[in-house]
Amino acid sequence: MTATRHLAGISPGMPATDGAGVQLTRMVGTPELDMVDPFLMLDRIDRDDPESYIAGFPNHPHRGFETVTIMLEGLMRHRDSVGNDGLLRPGDIQWMTAGRGIIHSELPEMIDGRLKGFQLWVNLPAEKKMMSPGYQDIPAADIETAEFDGGRARVIAGDYLKVHGAAQAQIPIRLLDVLLDPGAEWRIDVPTGNDLFMCVYEGSVTGTDQDGGCHAVSSPAVALFGGEGDVIVTAGDGGAEILYCEGRPIAEPVEKYGPFVMNTREELQQALDDFNAGTLATA
Ligand code: MN
Repeated sequence: MTATRHLAGISPGMPATDGAGVQLTRMVGTPELDMVDPFLMLDRIDRDDPESYIAGFPNHPHRGFETVTIMLEGLMRHRDSVGNDGLLRPGDIQWMTAGRGIIHSELPEMIDGRLKGFQLWVNLPAEKKMMSPGYQDIPAADIETAEFDGGRARVIAGDYLKVHGAAQAQIPIRLLDVLLDPGAEWRIDVPTGNDLFMCVYEGSVTGTDQDGGCHAVSSPAVALFGGEGDVIVTAGDGGAEILYCEGRPIAEPVEKYGPFVMNTREELQQALDDFNAGTLATA
């Protein structure tokens, strides 16, 4: 009999404001749920009042990790210090490796007033924090879908059911955008030693805790799992949409200050000094 992981926690996230006043829900990276190594942060936007997001995220720096932007509705225009300029459309993914430094802007544009999507921060190990910045713009059409009984998954990164993820990640992670039919049971094999979370962003699922108790995870919420083996969840009556994030923990010290994520306070100070000197993105 295959071992299964148990539902170990449910976190609803918390309201936050970032950039030039963008109202969002921070699902990971909160006092309650600091990180799920190697994932540092997950922000969710789901708004239909443009004044709450239209000012976007004007020019700002990053160093030491990767940002993954997952657009579901609306548009996001981005420009960066490396010379990239693009427009994310619904279903598109932007995978930005900050490495030693990038300065960019992320500015929403409206479709029918709606903006919906995620930004995920994926940590880099010490040996890659100062790598050259990288950037992948992945149109929705390039993201393959894996079909299974009771649902399907867009494979953004990593491999799932013989489908290769469209994004090239710097560390081994698996990122899936999953749609479950009402009542469907979904079982996914998780390699030993990997950690994961699911952000249920539409509908609900149920999972089983260590004592056999059944709990509903209703959107929006993050489900955490413990133990080793497969993960099993069952979609509620309305089905479920899930952002599934799995990776091998980096297990290094994490020092964070705003848009910089390094291993030591000295490296953080260096990032600030480089930014203030105007050399963060030119070194
Ligand atoms: Mn950014």
